[in-house]
Amino acid sequence: MDGQRVVIVGGGVIGTMHALEAVRRRWDVVQLEADAGPRRASVRNFGLVWVSGRAEGEELELGLRARELWESTAAVAPGLGFRANGSVTVATDPSELALMHELAARPPSAARQLSVLGADEVRAANPAVRGKVVGGLLCRRDAVVEPGAVLGALRGHLLDSGRYRFVPGRRAVEVTGGQVVDHLGDLYQGSLVIVCPGDALSGLGGSVGTALAQAPVRRCRLQMMQTAPAPEVLATSIADGDSMRYYPAFDLPGRAQLSAPSEETASSGMQLLLVQRAAGGLTIGDTHVYEEPFDFAVEEVLYDCLRRRAEEILGWTLPAVVRRWAGVYSAATDDRVCVREEVEPGVVVVTALAGRGMTLSPAIAEQTWAWVTR
Ligand SMILES: Cc1cc2nc3c(=O)[nH]c(=O)nc-3n(C[C@H](O)[C@H](O)[C@H](O)COP(=O)(O)OP(=O)(O)OC[C@H]3O[C@@H](n4cnc5c(N)ncnc54)[C@H](O)[C@@H]3O)c2cc1C
Repeated sequence: MDGQRVVIVGGGVIGTMHALEAVRRRWDVVQLEADAGPRRASVRNFGLVWVSGRAEGEELELGLRARELWESTAAVAPGLGFRANGSVTVATDPSELALMHELAARPPSAARQLSVLGADEVRAANPAVRGKVVGGLLCRRDAVVEPGAVLGALRGHLLDSGRYRFVPGRRAVEVTGGQVVDHLGDLYQGSLVIVCPGDALSGLGGSVGTALAQAPVRRCRLQMMQTAPAPEVLATSIADGDSMRYYPAFDLPGRAQLSAPSEETASSGMQLLLVQRAAGGLTIGDTHVYEEPFDFAVEEVLYDCLRRRAEEILGWTLPAVVRRWAGVYSAATDDRVCVREEVEPGVVVVTALAGRGMTLSPAIAEQTWAWVTR
């Protein structure tokens, strides 16, 4: 394969991990990105490498492999900010704790490195949690990367290989087997084209556009915020019990026994996820809205709810919020982990990773390359 060239459309984490795997396999890579620099889901997320929430089976296997790959990639590209900090999902009522016990009793619990904690043990695992909790689920396998730094660090490492060219500010408008044309009419040739458009599902015509229009995919919009540096270090990332309503690992009988969700959880798919950035600020979210067209503005009342929840769990007042944003991802609506399709000979589309794209990206790229070079 030495010296073959792949053209990758899309500069998000999925496209960039595919570029990394291509270079590992000694392919030359040209990567096009429509924006001046990636601005979408891959830089708007929490950076959680979240093994605890993955469904048993293929998704968990990919999650565990991806966790290994993130760590080994960080050894050669330390700027991506990998930290094996683990997570604590906190329980604020007995029904949540019961569901945690149920998950921890499942066979893959050891691979996830799960343990159920009492209230005092939660405080020992993460002394910043001093609010009203009845227990929690510790996942030592969960980790975090810095979403604002990952893509740049990976591209820097790719450039060092001498096999990689990044072309920002160029939108692919025509993709066929063997070539891509951008919006200025420039042509990029390669024996393989991999299209990783994220949530831009309608941007391309031809076989890619048709495949995306027919794929079982929907989009989801999330609200997020970032605080000023916190006064203390959080030993782990934190999730609240509502997160168990969404993550497929918790799709167990006990989920039906959870207490009724609050109004905002029911109406805007709210859960609390809280991650400390390397510089000390806290990234806090999120909400899930599927109905399009999406609101162009963010809803302040939802931020008030997220802040209240975070303060109830931490038991201290959050620092000032310094940034707010919304992000959109695409998600497969059936049970596949992502949409990956060869839409014509030599053209592969990979998208719809949902809220797990950051976590799974290295393993998805490895899997795509094993598949296309089979
Ligand atoms: C708010 C939020 C929080 C999240 N938190 C997490 C988390 O903590 N952990 C986790 O695992 N996952 C998380 N996710 C999901 C994860 O961020 C996504 O699954 C992942 O980033 C998708 O990557 P992508 O490369 O497919 O898409 P994107 O990041 O959207 O990248 C696609 C890129 O392709 C470019 N593009 C599109 N069309 C063209 C074209 N025709 N020509 C050239 N370029 C094109 C776009 O400009 C874009 O930069 C979160 C998502 C959101 C929105």
